[in-house]
Amino acid sequence: MPKAQETVLEIDLKTLKHNFGHLKSKLNKKTKFLAVVKAYGYGSDACQIANYLQTLDVDYFAVAYVKEGVALRKSGITKPVLVLHPQAVNFKTLIDNCLEPSIYNAKILNEFINIASAEKQTNYPIHIKFNTGLNRLGFWGNDLNYIASKLKDSASVKVKSIFSHLAASEDLKEKQFTLNQIENFKSISKNVTKALGYKPMLHICNTSGLLNYPDAHFDMVRSGIGLYGFGNSEKENKHLKPIATLKTVISQIHSIEKGESVGYNRAYKSNAFLKTATLPLGHADGIGRQYGNDNGFVTINGQKANIIGNVCMDMIMVNITNIDCKEGDEVIVFDANHTAENLAQTTNSISYELITAISQRIKRVILQ
Ligand SMILES: *Cc1c(COP(=O)(O)O)cnc(C)c1O
Repeated sequence: MPKAQETVLEIDLKTLKHNFGHLKSKLNKKTKFLAVVKAYGYGSDACQIANYLQTLDVDYFAVAYVKEGVALRKSGITKPVLVLHPQAVNFKTLIDNCLEPSIYNAKILNEFINIASAEKQTNYPIHIKFNTGLNRLGFWGNDLNYIASKLKDSASVKVKSIFSHLAASEDLKEKQFTLNQIENFKSISKNVTKALGYKPMLHICNTSGLLNYPDAHFDMVRSGIGLYGFGNSEKENKHLKPIATLKTVISQIHSIEKGESVGYNRAYKSNAFLKTATLPLGHADGIGRQYGNDNGFVTINGQKANIIGNVCMDMIMVNITNIDCKEGDEVIVFDANHTAENLAQTTNSISYELITAISQRIKRVILQ
């Protein structure tokens, strides 16, 4: 891999293939795989990721919003795309781009049927979402009669799947809660299937659900974080590998005398001589202020350098007092060894938050 000369996010497609292969190996042959590529492919590059996965054995994609689905279509994605959280204002665009909406309440169901009818659609694929305990989005089980009566009256839509989302699939202390969600989902989907008179696909598992609840794969699983290399547990992390490496370079080195300060508001005050390196990334790039003041760190020539003082918009300063390095040297913010999960933990955050925050300003480099 070439040494960084500016801040870059490298995305390794071979590693993506490895993670996909590992996750697939947990499934029955017949179980479909939906790759979640929302939020720019968890901060990487949704179009590159999706186009690569489309050449492998992926059946479905999901994004959160219509705009993200349109970008996939423009980039050449032809497989079905589920939009997890669409808004009615975008339904015409959704239909124009053959995206498939998650329908989660009566309001959105009515709005979609109206627009699909106006657009002269028949059997337009929709996905009915049920709330089984996350209490975020979804119909309740007792909405079934309403849904069934609406669908009977409309030829414009057809239910392609029934799904739900687990609240704590990574947390084995909540195993009983998760098993209850799964049972609840089974009973709801049985009733829906009966009321509809045909059998839509069923799915409930995200990555940790896929890994921890093999009996709950149903017809499809929806995996995001696992593809990007995080298994939400030490055990699973052994089999997965982060696909993204965030690298930067040392712009400038300063020698700071005892009693001086570093950065805005003089947040760091030196009580001894130290050397600092200034790096070209800051809170506008996704390294939030919480990583400053000795919480977060980067790695330079294999050694840990703490982020000192306040994180600036476009820069951070790190302590390199005992590190042998020079201006222009490469700096690892996170990679497969010093992972985004480890860095996120320094601020009580999680891999998901750190990787999805990496701004679009940072250049993406795709390793084939
Ligand atoms: C984001 C999301 C997923 C993917 O979850 P991971 O934990 O990243 O695998 C699956 N389903 C829904 C509804 C989601 O919002």
